Order: sequence, then C-alpha cells, then structure tokens
Amino acid sequence: MQTISNYDFKNKKALIRVDFNVPLNENFEITDDTRMTAAVPTIKKVMESGGSSIIMSHFGRPKYGPEDKYSMRHLVNHLSGLLGKEVKLAPDCIGDKVKEMAAALKPGEALLLENLRFHKEEEGGDESFAGKLAELGNCWINDAFGTAHRAHASTAVIAKFFPNDKMFGYLVESEIKSIDKVMANPVRPMTAIMGGAKISTKITIIENMLNKVDNLIIGGGMIFTFVKAMGGDIGASLCENDYLELAKTIIKKAKEKSVNLIIASDCLAADKFANDANIEICPTSNIKDGWMGLDVGPETIKIFKEVIGSSKTILWNGPAGVFEMDTFSAGTKAIGDAVAKSTKEGAFSLVGGGDSVAAVNKFGMADDVSYISTAGGALLEYLEGKALPGIAAIRE
Ligand code: AMP
Repeated sequence: MQTISNYDFKNKKALIRVDFNVPLNENFEITDDTRMTAAVPTIKKVMESGGSSIIMSHFGRPKYGPEDKYSMRHLVNHLSGLLGKEVKLAPDCIGDKVKEMAAALKPGEALLLENLRFHKEEEGGDESFAGKLAELGNCWINDAFGTAHRAHASTAVIAKFFPNDKMFGYLVESEIKSIDKVMANPVRPMTAIMGGAKISTKITIIENMLNKVDNLIIGGGMIFTFVKAMGGDIGASLCENDYLELAKTIIKKAKEKSVNLIIASDCLAADKFANDANIEICPTSNIKDGWMGLDVGPETIKIFKEVIGSSKTILWNGPAGVFEMDTFSAGTKAIGDAVAKSTKEGAFSLVGGGDSVAAVNKFGMADDVSYISTAGGALLEYLEGKALPGIAAIRE
C-alpha cells in the first residue's frame, strides 16, 4: 500500500481532500483554524517533495450552486500564511478554467479549489463528477477524517480513478493508527468510559464495546435509564423510557461476556437544572421525587478511579455529568485526572466525541491524554464498528 511517506511526488500533482470546514464570524474571519493547521503537514510534504498540491474541501452547507458566504476565498489568504507561500484560488472545482490552472501548477505550488459542495454531485457521490476532479491530478490523498464516513465524490468515489496512486494523508493516518490501538489490538485491561446525555445516541457503540472491553464504565445522563431498568427510583433524572429493555439486554450481555459493567452507584442530585440548585449526595437508585442526578457521587468516583487506574487502554466518550456547570463538574474532572494519571503511567488513552473533548479542554488536560479525536460523526461510526467509505476506498 502506498503511503504519503513512501510515495514519489516528484513532478506529480496531488489532489488532497482536506476538511477546511472552519467556523467564520460575521466579518468572514476564521475563528478557529484547527482544521486548517491540521492538514498543513500533508500539503507541505507534497510541495517539499517536488510535487504540487491541489487542495479540495467542502465548506459550510451551501444549497448547491455558488454562494459567496461559503466561498473558499474567505480561507485562501489564511492558507497562504500557513503554508508560507501564496496559494492560488480556482473559480470552481471542475471545468476548463480549473483544468488550465491545475495544468499550469509548478512543483512546490498550491491551488485551492472552490467549495466542492457548490455541486450537488459531491454529496451525491456522482462518479462522473469524481472523474472530473480526478482529471486534475496524478494521485489522490485523503486527509479528511471528519468526512471519512461519507461516500461522497471527493471522499471515496474518486478512489477508483487512482487504483495505484491513492493514500491517506498524515492526519487520517495518525487518526486511524490511534483508533486502531483501541479498537483493533488494545493492550489489556481495556476500559471504555461512556457518558453524555443520552443512551440512544451511544447505544450502538456500547453494544460494539461489549465485544472489546474488559471494563465498561457508564456515566452521564444515561446512567438513569440503566438504573430505572433495574427498578431504581430516579426522580426527575434524564431517562429514555424507550430504551429500558435495551438497557436490560446490555446488562445481561455484559454478564454473558464477562465484561465488568460499572454503572454509577451514587450521584449528586439537584432540585433544579442550575448551578445554584440545592444539592445532595444519594444513591442513583434512590433519588427524591422532583430531584435529578446531574453528576456522579464520591463513591462512584472512587470506583471509576480504581478501574481507570488499572487500565492499559482507555477510550473516553462523553462527560460523567453536567460538566458545563461547576457544581456538577467534579465527576468529569475526576475521570480526566484518572485518565491523565494512567496515561502518564503508560496507558494509551483516546478521547473522542464532541463533549468529552470540550471537557478535556475545559480542564486543560489536552496534553495529558494520548490522542484527542475531533472527528465527531466519523469517529462514532468507527467505534460502532462500521466500515468508513473514505478509509475502505483506500484500503481496497
Ligand atoms: P452527549 O452529546 O450525548 O455526549 O452529551 C453531552 C451532554 O450531556 C453534556 O452537555 C452534559 O451536560 C450532559 N449530561 C451529562 N450528564 C448529565 C446528566 N446526569 N443529566 C443531564 N445531562 C447530562
């Protein structure tokens, strides 16, 4: 298999699919360029190896057809700054003018194509559109993990035009390597920490995790669906009644598979959903009427810490409580501390899924875990055990 490290880019034009879907403010200024800086090593590698980079991405949600608001013109100067070299902007992503500009590119130069989603064929995965993109370059690099779960023209379909000249960019390569450390061959014991609001959005991951982990920690709002399923009184805590049976099945399956399923036993209950609520510590199965569990309690934190402390591979997805409010942030902070400590002692830790990443950043722990995945939907589908089209297209 070709890799970005062993491929010869000399005099080649590399079509690089990146994720430049960055947020802009009302003056069209980039407010967070993380996604752009993340793709720079791949773009630079091509240019410094005697090739030229043709960079393509989606940006925002245009309603098909050009919309100035979603034009790459808002990004091109910033990209030039990041690369230390002026980047040319194409007026479209396909067509004669773009072909001309691509053909005129010299080694060491870069061209940014206009927003792929100005054409509905991109999301439609249209083969002839993919073919038109493919005409622009000699090889295809996928460096957009965030869209790897989509079978779009530029993220997957285009692969068939480059059977021998397709590869992952550095960003996708390191993302896959980190996720595989957890999903493919974890050093044991392995622990998954699942939190967040709802069981419904995490259920497929939880089911998949039962086949992989030694310990499965359940925190966050989803605790209470499990506790109610076991007959507990959960007061006004978050609960998804449609998932009670499924919660029972998970408890049963965990037993069958000898997975140590740890559901929070005590919690911090509040009389309202607010930072200044009245609070008390109580068992998760004995919450007063009208009160709600908004964080895990001290007994639970102790158990979570012990389990995380003895783990060699850790996946953390979702906060243990309503960490955005200081009153209910102790459980999530404690998990973060325990994960950081284990990581320091040699465990591999992967944090992924929007809110756990936000939590890690809030507590300033981003450098204390092994890998933070910002891929959102793509990561979740990978954790669910699904094959991602953008990855399969290159591996096939
Ligand atoms: P998710 O996007 O599913 O990972 O959910 C994240 C959200 O879950 C965060 O905004 C938390 O505030 C929220 N959350 C965590 N624990 C609870 C809880 N016990 N009750 C209500 N919401 C919670």
